[in-house]
Amino acid sequence: MTIRTRVAPSPTGDPHLGTAYMALFNWAFAKSQGGQFVLRIEDTDAARSSAASEGRILAALSWLGIPWDEGPDKGGRHGPYRQSERRDLYRRHVQQLIEAGHAFHCFCTPERLVALRAEQRALGAPLGYDGRCRQLSGAQAAARLRSGQASVVRMQVPSEGLCRFHDALRGEIEIPYSQIDMQVLLKADGLPTYHLAVVVDDHLMGITHILRGEEWISSVPKHKLLYDYFGWPMPAMAHLPLLRNPDHSKLSKRRNPTSIDYFRAQGYLPEALLNYLGLMGWSMPDERTLFSKEEFRQAFSLQRVSLGGAVFDVEKLNWLNGQYMRRLDAEAFMDRLQGWALNRRRLSALVPLVQTRTQRFSDLVPKVGYLLGDRPPLKAEDFAHSKLDRRQVVEILFRVCRAADTLAEWRQEDLRSLCKTEAERMQLRLKDFMAPLFVAISGRPVALPLFASMAFLGADLSRVRLREALDALGVSNKQRRQLEKLPL
Ligand code: GLU
Repeated sequence: MTIRTRVAPSPTGDPHLGTAYMALFNWAFAKSQGGQFVLRIEDTDAARSSAASEGRILAALSWLGIPWDEGPDKGGRHGPYRQSERRDLYRRHVQQLIEAGHAFHCFCTPERLVALRAEQRALGAPLGYDGRCRQLSGAQAAARLRSGQASVVRMQVPSEGLCRFHDALRGEIEIPYSQIDMQVLLKADGLPTYHLAVVVDDHLMGITHILRGEEWISSVPKHKLLYDYFGWPMPAMAHLPLLRNPDHSKLSKRRNPTSIDYFRAQGYLPEALLNYLGLMGWSMPDERTLFSKEEFRQAFSLQRVSLGGAVFDVEKLNWLNGQYMRRLDAEAFMDRLQGWALNRRRLSALVPLVQTRTQRFSDLVPKVGYLLGDRPPLKAEDFAHSKLDRRQVVEILFRVCRAADTLAEWRQEDLRSLCKTEAERMQLRLKDFMAPLFVAISGRPVALPLFASMAFLGADLSRVRLREALDALGVSNKQRRQLEKLPL
């Protein structure tokens, strides 16, 4: 049997470190066994998915040096590799489930489902669909469909019993079916949910081993039922530990940079970042810290994955990156430096910002310092502004942080309109509202245009700077909790 693994990111935002982590382990496992590694794009959430995000994921994985054998850009025997291009396949498979009685049309309105939830909550009962439309006969469902009533398709789930499955890292796992909802498989818009698409695709793409994050363990019973309903063998499963902060909280973009693009823009070397990801829940048999991708692949075995040790500590990454920097010869160092930021692509993004503000090239260096490197550390006094008091400054920074968390694209125009909305809510002029943001982003009250600077820095780095500004102002946890309550 040829081992086939996959990574299946959803293109709904920045290329996430977690995607690179999963890609590295899936690649290493497949290649250590002479197998193949597939990249599949899970873009069934039409509203949140974008081609731009897909492009950035592919670029980020290529930058890191994780190659895939089949994928949306390369094709392959099991394509298409974008779920949005596989709609007919899902529809056919859902039909098969309905005909065999393993799935049913559900006509319950969103209002009914909201009311049902509220009722279950009030009773302290488990939340989930109550199965009302299961009672409909085939003829009744067909008549409702003919009359044009909106519907979804849900899967049948046994009301009792235990789902048992094996996880290569965790052993036997048991989850009672009573905890499993009658999952929607096909949405009203005709698109599949993740649960249907992942099972159909993993099977049709010949995936033999699924290595993914532990947050998916609770979904396995749904998937296992689907494999059984279709009469397919379930691939082997290994749920890897989630990446965590040094305090063991989940790595999340609200608190830390998580975008691969951030690490690229900050001047990390891809081989150092990849090496560091290889230390997440894994260690070399001889415990050495520095190793290449090839060495990782050769030494890789699932047995060496430890469930406790996926702590992503930027300080340790910095140390490791320094080790790699040191090992470059002078020529390579210069090439890599040029490749990082002093290249045409990156500089061309700076030209519209600086050209009309430059008399001599030497003016340029101090002007762009905060864009290419760190800005000076912040102090509370940096935010003293005649028109705003501390409370307002804190509120502005908080509002922008909060709103920016939900921004799908990090473009100048989106950032401007976000700030305009928030300034109106606070009844401030945009110019005054922007003053503390200039300081947070550039470290100075006057700098290059704010929204263009934020767009150049990217979402992660801008967010980090805004959060650091709140820290510099000494905002306590209690204050933060109060700020969370601010009306939108
Ligand atoms: N699309 C899912 C994600 O974004 C993939 C989960 C899986 O690997 O099954 O993480």
